[in-house]
Amino acid sequence: MAERRRDGRDAGEGARGARTREVADAWGELVATARRTVADGLVVGTSGNVSVRVGDTVLVTPTGVPYDRLTPDDVVGVDLDGRQTLGSLRPTSELPMHLAVYRATGTLAVVHTHAAHATAVSTLVTELPLIHYMAGALGGPVRVAPYATYGTPELAENVLRALTDRTACLLRNHGTLAHGGSLDQAYDRTAQVEWMSRVWLLASSVPGLSPALLSREQLAEAGQRLRGYGQPGPDADGGSGP
Ligand SMILES: [Zn+2]
Repeated sequence: MAERRRDGRDAGEGARGARTREVADAWGELVATARRTVADGLVVGTSGNVSVRVGDTVLVTPTGVPYDRLTPDDVVGVDLDGRQTLGSLRPTSELPMHLAVYRATGTLAVVHTHAAHATAVSTLVTELPLIHYMAGALGGPVRVAPYATYGTPELAENVLRALTDRTACLLRNHGTLAHGGSLDQAYDRTAQVEWMSRVWLLASSVPGLSPALLSREQLAEAGQRLRGYGQPGPDADGGSGP
């Protein structure tokens, strides 16, 4: 797939330059990330969406096209005001939410899913209980944005408020949103939110017992270590962490 894309682009566009290749590469990563959300069970069908920023262009998954059918020629791009600048397929209906996040945070990638455990948690609480210190890698306790109809400016506003000082949030009765400096980072944050949601639901489902939770202080301390302050330690991915 990737080879076909590169060959096609290079042959067809010749010296169009680095930006064209950058867009083509970013589109390839976007499609791979969108497919990963389905393969990993974070999304069913076409119900999530993914975007990535290249310069002043935001590449975004189109509405209603299964991710396994997206080709290198299906690139969809808009400017930060939502005017379509690349492609002919219609951008996701949840574009206003993506653009609001780019305008407000300066981030480079956004992943939105309807992950089951996170969505379940979004119906129960206004903030994901502090079940695990990895919340520190997301800036603190993960908030739940109040419900609003998908695709509306109101939902975008609710999401921005929930994202204050955070890189991920839940959307009530809807799903998740995470952003980051790359698609991989936004994806990993999404997976962390879903995993923590699952852990909390599992621990909460034992009759007669309720899970121990971390204090804000404990979370802040873990968050500092995760961000690499103090002594050299485990990465934000916690790969070698305790
Ligand atoms: Zn959605």
